[in-house]
Amino acid sequence: MRILITGGAGFIGSHLCDRLLGAGHSVIAMDNLITGHIRNIQHLAGRDDFRFVKHNVSEDIFVDGPLDAVMHFASPASPSKTAPTGYLQLPIQTLKVGALGTLHALGVAKAKSARFILASTSEVYGDPLEHPQKETYWGHVDPVGPRSVYDEAKRFAEALTMAYHRTHGVDTRIVRIFNTYGPRMRLRDGRALPAFMGQALRGEDVTVFGDGSQTRSFCYVSDLVEGIYRLLMSDTADPVNIGNPHEITIREFAEAVNRVTANPAGLRLVPDGRTQGDPQQRRPDITRARTLLNWEPAVPLETGLQRTVEYFRNLVA
Ligand code: UDP
Repeated sequence: MRILITGGAGFIGSHLCDRLLGAGHSVIAMDNLITGHIRNIQHLAGRDDFRFVKHNVSEDIFVDGPLDAVMHFASPASPSKTAPTGYLQLPIQTLKVGALGTLHALGVAKAKSARFILASTSEVYGDPLEHPQKETYWGHVDPVGPRSVYDEAKRFAEALTMAYHRTHGVDTRIVRIFNTYGPRMRLRDGRALPAFMGQALRGEDVTVFGDGSQTRSFCYVSDLVEGIYRLLMSDTADPVNIGNPHEITIREFAEAVNRVTANPAGLRLVPDGRTQGDPQQRRPDITRARTLLNWEPAVPLETGLQRTVEYFRNLVA
């Protein structure tokens, strides 16, 4: 297959490039590099089955030649209150890439008769009242809260994807990605894993926001990418959760990072650190992925953290 991937220089996008090339496909990665980074795809430069195009997909997209699939993975994704690459600092860009970027990516898929997959998010469930979250849950999202620039953009993107599917018959997929971690996350994007890794590798206390009782379920990136690949190759237009159902508190997660990094320091609670609307609990119900894709995560947290720490050690050093 010849595949266009928007956000191809990002954390998940670049791992997808590797996976697709490894399976024998050819890849065009498109990225404007505001949150992605060229070093994530540098090792692919010079291959004749890989091309990088620096472009903002919120502007019109032009691709020469046939395409078999379009994967729309471009978007800021960190909810950090302070990081310049978080969506709270890029609110209009985030709304544009979820709305106009999705429109353009769907337009390319329609014009090329290509399959389309949208990178959606567990944020469509907001601060969920149903736990764990099944794909049938409609969510609990504040449409005017600070996180709405991301949550509502992704909800709109899902609606647009289904409209292209129903109206134009585009062969679409929607993956709802839960918290994912691994090499190539930005060190300073403010999310829990890179923040904790950076602090722990410098021997500092790690900053746990609130009282650390909020939960997340962290999936190692290779597991996520395998799930997305299987979804792309399936024939499922309905949304599918891909994530790890192993749920832990942020406090436990911080302690796990301190353990794998042998951080001599401890935890520092930051009572007012949480963003407004920060979900109190999050865990995917992955019955649909298990049933339809025969997929479930295989990498335990400690193993994934060990692999991740090697990457961050080089960045912090
Ligand atoms: N968090 C934290 N310390 C940090 C960064 C994040 O305690 O330095 C918390 C944050 O408040 C949230 C959880 O970790 O409850 C996960 O946050 P992240 O930014 O990784 O992503 P989210 O799951 O909220 O999209």
